[in-house]
Amino acid sequence: MLNSSQAPTYAPAPPHVLIVGGGLAGLAAATALAGHDVRISVIESRPRLGGRASSFVDPATGESVDNCQHVTMTCCTNLTDFCRRVNIHELFRREEAIVFLSPEGRISRLRAGLLPAPFHLAGSFLRANYLRWSEKLRVAYGLACLRSSRDDRPGESFADWLLRHGQTIRTINLYWATVLVSALNERLEQMDVGHARKIFIDGFLRNRAGFQMEIPLVPLGELYGTRLETWLRDHDVTVRLTTGVRAVKMDSEGEIRGVTLRSGESIDADFVVMAVPFDRVRALLPDDLLAKLPALTSLDVLQASPITGVHLWFDRSVCPFDHVVTVGRLIQWVFNHTAIQGRSATGEGGEYLQLVISASYDLLALDKAAILDAVMKELAEIWPATREATLVRSWVVTEHGATFAVRPGVEAHRPLQRTPIDGLFLAGDWTDTGWPATMEGAVRSGYRTAEGILEDLGRPTALVAPDLATEPMAGWLLGLNADRGQAGDSQTRDRPTSSRLGSPAARASGSAGPVGRA
Ligand SMILES: Cc1cc2nc3c(=O)[nH]c(=O)nc-3n(C[C@H](O)[C@H](O)[C@H](O)COP(=O)(O)OP(=O)(O)OC[C@H]3O[C@@H](n4cnc5c(N)ncnc54)[C@H](O)[C@@H]3O)c2cc1C
Repeated sequence: MLNSSQAPTYAPAPPHVLIVGGGLAGLAAATALAGHDVRISVIESRPRLGGRASSFVDPATGESVDNCQHVTMTCCTNLTDFCRRVNIHELFRREEAIVFLSPEGRISRLRAGLLPAPFHLAGSFLRANYLRWSEKLRVAYGLACLRSSRDDRPGESFADWLLRHGQTIRTINLYWATVLVSALNERLEQMDVGHARKIFIDGFLRNRAGFQMEIPLVPLGELYGTRLETWLRDHDVTVRLTTGVRAVKMDSEGEIRGVTLRSGESIDADFVVMAVPFDRVRALLPDDLLAKLPALTSLDVLQASPITGVHLWFDRSVCPFDHVVTVGRLIQWVFNHTAIQGRSATGEGGEYLQLVISASYDLLALDKAAILDAVMKELAEIWPATREATLVRSWVVTEHGATFAVRPGVEAHRPLQRTPIDGLFLAGDWTDTGWPATMEGAVRSGYRTAEGILEDLGRPTALVAPDLATEPMAGWLLGLNADRGQAGDSQTRDRPTSSRLGSPAARASGSAGPVGRA
């Protein structure tokens, strides 16, 4: 017979966190929780990870083609942190300058000069040749007004705000739309003013490096797909692809118990993270659960905004740039994948270009042939060499629900990651992060969710990376807290504590609460 000191002791099984959705939000939550003594599963309905930031295989060539070019900026500190965490950060190239091509074909480069922020881009801006001197003064006046929200009007679009602050149709089309439509994937006529302000302050004014663009050197399917899958499996995270979740499971007492798959299989879990797009969440929650989540009725108000990507493979080189912003045109941005990723159409000499058209509402009524026709006409105007070149093949990909639309007042409709239901969290670029629909917003939401779960487990851990530091002169002139960069933005510190593990004392002893049932 064993005495008490010899009796086997059974450590409780680690709590199970089940993440529905393998986009960047779900992936960020999973990678941040790895190594924290929790069992993690990622359930993804598609055959690959990466969600909207992924690639498809061209059946004609077997080549990986991104659904659309994805770029990030240095101010996206959490995406950077995520990429470092999973060892893919070296697969990006940082650009010190952004090239702009005026409608007349003149080139301007936006790069930081010697002046401190917020004036580091002033020299480039003054040299920009797509605006006249009087227009530059007008834009400078607009930027000075934009730094403060004092005279914002509720519900006002950014286009109306610009008109109210001395901007002309030319400054709006050539400057403000050029910067913001691709950054926020929305037209100025239906864009939230606060989001426009955030792009300028965080991206262009707060810190010298914030505006620098980072471009992937490999297809998205490798970056956030196969590489992530390997990392997760190496870190004991269960990844199930081609596995759709049908509904979140609750018990008779209203406790979260896991999920039911479309196949009918049931998986138990202590925490469920809904990291699916905003228009999918409600359908996965049972009615009695939805009744306890009135904040989610707001999701009906969110709308989607489209992006069109056009992939063109030419038999020869036609584009003299690695990437270029084409000012005042239908095509907004051209990325030369032969130059950036070493990919070509026909071996030596061929060129693979990817064109991006954000907020492509006007293209929704057109078929692919008409869109191709329109962009080929523009390219011929921009680079006459395309007239002589042979288009070897092409893809036109319009993502109708590319991002949630940053319409005026949108922030009021974005729910927090922590829900009032113990064990149920939301993650996704559409949740309340203050960021527009970006990879950065998605990763922040995943980190916040992971922080919330660890806090519920009695192991509070700061995961959200600080913003880039606000440089002193920028802080003073823009009225920003100069040390903002030192502080993370964890929501868990100022949110009510979940009762999932009972009282703090119970959490410390690990003796109470539903997590114990795992
Ligand atoms: C064309 C395009 C261009 C873009 N360009 C940029 C850019 O340049 N820079 C940038 O920062 N951002 C860009 N974005 C936005 C960026 O891709 C998104 O903000 C980010 O990827 C969103 O991640 P997410 O995890 O929130 O959502 P998603 O990526 O949508 O992930 C949700 C996942 O949930 C899965 N899912 C849904 N339902 C279920 C279910 N029932 N069961 C299991 N799984 C389910 C989906 O398959 C998906 O994989 C772009 C987006 C698009 C579409």
